Amino acid sequence: MRKITPQVAEIVERFPDLHPPFAAQAAVVESNRCLNCFDAPCTAACPTHIDVPRFIKKIATGNLRGSALSILDANVLGASCSRVCPVQVLCEGACVMHRYNKQPIAIGRLQRFAMDAFYASDGVLPRKNAEERPQKIACLGAGPASLAAAAELRQRGYQVTVFDKHPLPGGLNTYGVAEYKLPLPDSLREIKLIEDLGVRFRFGVEIGRELSIDEIESQFDVIFLGIGLGVMHTLDIPGGNHPGVIDALQFIADYKTGRTTGIHGKAVVIGAGNTAIDAANAAMRLGAKSVTLLYRRTLGHMSAFDFEYEHAKLEGVTFHWLAQPVAVHANEDALSSIECMRMEIAADGSLHSVADSNFHIDCNIVIPAIGQSPLLDLLAQCSEVRLVNGRVAVDRATGQTSNPKYYAGGDCVNGGREVVDAVADGKRVGIAIARSLEATHV
Ligand code: SF4
Repeated sequence: MRKITPQVAEIVERFPDLHPPFAAQAAVVESNRCLNCFDAPCTAACPTHIDVPRFIKKIATGNLRGSALSILDANVLGASCSRVCPVQVLCEGACVMHRYNKQPIAIGRLQRFAMDAFYASDGVLPRKNAEERPQKIACLGAGPASLAAAAELRQRGYQVTVFDKHPLPGGLNTYGVAEYKLPLPDSLREIKLIEDLGVRFRFGVEIGRELSIDEIESQFDVIFLGIGLGVMHTLDIPGGNHPGVIDALQFIADYKTGRTTGIHGKAVVIGAGNTAIDAANAAMRLGAKSVTLLYRRTLGHMSAFDFEYEHAKLEGVTFHWLAQPVAVHANEDALSSIECMRMEIAADGSLHSVADSNFHIDCNIVIPAIGQSPLLDLLAQCSEVRLVNGRVAVDRATGQTSNPKYYAGGDCVNGGREVVDAVADGKRVGIAIARSLEATHV
């Protein structure tokens, strides 16, 4: 599909897997631990409802292709989800083994085992309907929600085109997830499966600039908005626009695509979400002398998962709580320090700065990870698509917006959740679009 540059290959080498894959025998042993629960709480806990006992049983009996097809039937991005899902709070968190004080079944690693075998054997995704249908669907954005919707619709014979402003597909899977969780080539390999179904991709196309919404509306029967969120919030303090201040998503995209192959000196990351943790870990692995993560509240308020926090500590990241950045300082072109103010939390939970508490942390790069804005400019051009608090308002069951020609799913609707939530949205909405088209074009 796309060539992997030597720089990307080097990054893949330097960021080995966080959870190495199972060897074949270990996968069989682990799959035989599964109790095949009839009510499968693991399946209920998966937003895409993968039939977990079914795919695990197939691994146990040596039917790896059947296992992978069971996964793909529920989740076309089953490979990336096996790597990036917070399984501790989803399927594995729900596994009945916890009730018996035993380790939960390693569902994520087994899923990865089946999917790796599928891709290694050049597996293809079967169509659900051999008939070609003339209706055209545009999917805006090439992230997980759009890819899942595109796959559902194409498998039913519809003509689907995915548009994205980036040169590569995958959205956050390709550009925004830490390399040691999901290497860029693995994200692209998975998307080739969808391309092979006959989904067309148009890259480097910014809707509203290179191609107008009017043109899309006139050329397509249905438009799916899977545009995710927009740029990260900027650091709005003196010195916050210095070139040594690089937002976390840009920082992660730069090293994943080989534009950044190392950093020198000390790094400070601002924020307390999973993206902040991914950026902090990456900075360590890219050679930073030290990485300090600043957060204005405390550990208990962090939005990152506990296991992400524990992992960052193992990587060597230092955490500095109750610290609010107030200025970035530079010596000529190079950053020298970030100035912070101490914060305190009152009994009623409100946050206050402590007078005369300013202090400096030496640093050479600052990486803010302080949230993303919605793509309001683009959404404002979509005729009669209603927004609520900057998110696209949809019918929860179908994903249809206030304009019946438009549907939406993923981060632009939910404000930013897990990859698997976006896949679940895209799949559900893709099925709803197909049903609607079948009902109106008999
Ligand atoms: Fe297997 Fe655990 Fe799911 Fe039961 S809950 S089917 S033991 S993975």
